[in-house]
Amino acid sequence: MINSSLKQLGEMLQAKKISSVELTQSFLSRIQQYNPDINAYIALDEAKTLTQAKAADALIASGDTTPLTGIPIAQKDIFCAKGWKTTCGSKMLANFIAPYDAHVITQFDAAGAVNLGKTNMDEFAMGSSNETSYFGGVKNPWDFKRVPGGSSGGSAAAVAARLCAAATGTDTGGSIRQPASLCGFTGLKPTYGVVSRYGMIAFASSLDQAGPMAKSAEDCALMMNVMAGFDERDSTSLQREKEDYTRDLHKPLQGLKIGLPKEFFAEGLDANVGKVIEGAIAEYKKLGAEIVDISLPNTGLSIPVYYVLAPAEASSNLSRYDGVRYGHRAESYTDLMDMYCKSRAEGFGAEVKRRILIGTYVLSAGYYDAYYLKAQQIRRLIAQDFVEAFKQCDVIMGPAAPSTAFKAGEKVDDPVAMYLQDIYTISTNLAGLPGMSVPAGFSTGSDGKVLPVGLQIIGNYFDEARMLNVAHQYQQVTDWHAQIPNLGKPNLVLPEELK
Ligand code: GLN
Repeated sequence: MINSSLKQLGEMLQAKKISSVELTQSFLSRIQQYNPDINAYIALDEAKTLTQAKAADALIASGDTTPLTGIPIAQKDIFCAKGWKTTCGSKMLANFIAPYDAHVITQFDAAGAVNLGKTNMDEFAMGSSNETSYFGGVKNPWDFKRVPGGSSGGSAAAVAARLCAAATGTDTGGSIRQPASLCGFTGLKPTYGVVSRYGMIAFASSLDQAGPMAKSAEDCALMMNVMAGFDERDSTSLQREKEDYTRDLHKPLQGLKIGLPKEFFAEGLDANVGKVIEGAIAEYKKLGAEIVDISLPNTGLSIPVYYVLAPAEASSNLSRYDGVRYGHRAESYTDLMDMYCKSRAEGFGAEVKRRILIGTYVLSAGYYDAYYLKAQQIRRLIAQDFVEAFKQCDVIMGPAAPSTAFKAGEKVDDPVAMYLQDIYTISTNLAGLPGMSVPAGFSTGSDGKVLPVGLQIIGNYFDEARMLNVAHQYQQVTDWHAQIPNLGKPNLVLPEELK
């Protein structure tokens, strides 16, 4: 059951083969068993969760259902959920109980889905390993010594370890796709503006976008049907017709033009990861796709551009945490200024402080033109590269991350090495384009560990349905996405499905 697709779970629920309460309880007991080790969830509230499951069962009994009614979903702790602790992985918000629901949460509630709990994440979504979380790191279910990626590391581990039916994440520079690659599941970052950011704690507002993290492309499509849509409370939410993201899943790929940017296969890519990606491309050729060699000449500038723009926006967004209205307040202080300084010094972790300092610096009067303005100009050039590329191809493919999961502690003291994890994902955020990561095989690390590798698929604006089609067709002829980690602990009897 834990391996069933969302569609299968929905069918079982509606045929009353299982109740939402039973399904939810089975996930809760897996969480109880494995979460103490994995640390994927940082807030659980069984009573609240089961109340929702009971309500879903009532909806099912009355026949008033949607495809996700009664299905337990994990929510990244960046989404405000009324009555739930919402921390964004920070000490600053360690005691914050959200007084309202984010749009994404409202949408899942309206669909009758069940909120299983809030998942761990890098502090304020800044990181690629989940190690900046105030609540501790998350273990990669494929190897507990390794990181799950970040910043949506808790959702990633929860999906990979089957501690939820599916999860939500957010992606500012790669935080859905890089963990999807490192943990071996399917994750989609939609076109900027497709999913409302209302109630989603802001990191870098012009880049932040929420999306699904799930077992397959089909599951992502069903999640998108719930998450996407216009919301007047987010000024960047796009007013478009509601779409059915499952509509193109079954289309054949004959004649699909796949662009391979030479910059994605250059120095810096782990050779074994490269081989897995080549294998996936070969599979697409068998499915009738044509390969086109393309170039994204400015893509090499995306990391420096991002690390000017994202901190600039973060420094502004995070100025609201001053200890006055909400969030951590220092216990003792001499005057107002001292209260601000101490509250912020105590409430934020090192990476967040680094970003606030960088952001404040690049926005300062003397340096604005040299850094912020320049970065905005190059951002436009990076977006223009994609406009040119999509004249030659329908989708772009490459790796989602430069390596497989790395060991905890390996990069924490080297911010630049950590920042390079997003070298293949950040340019799409800067351009506002949709991108996804799809399990494409496994690679053996230096110590013989077998670890998942994700193929990145980048689409043109609003081409999510086509990308999901491209991923789904691949998942019909491969079973990488169906592989699950063995969570065996020496003294533990594994559930039948995991043997
Ligand atoms: N790893 C990138 C960063 O640290 C991206 C994070 C994200 O997408 N939220 O900023």
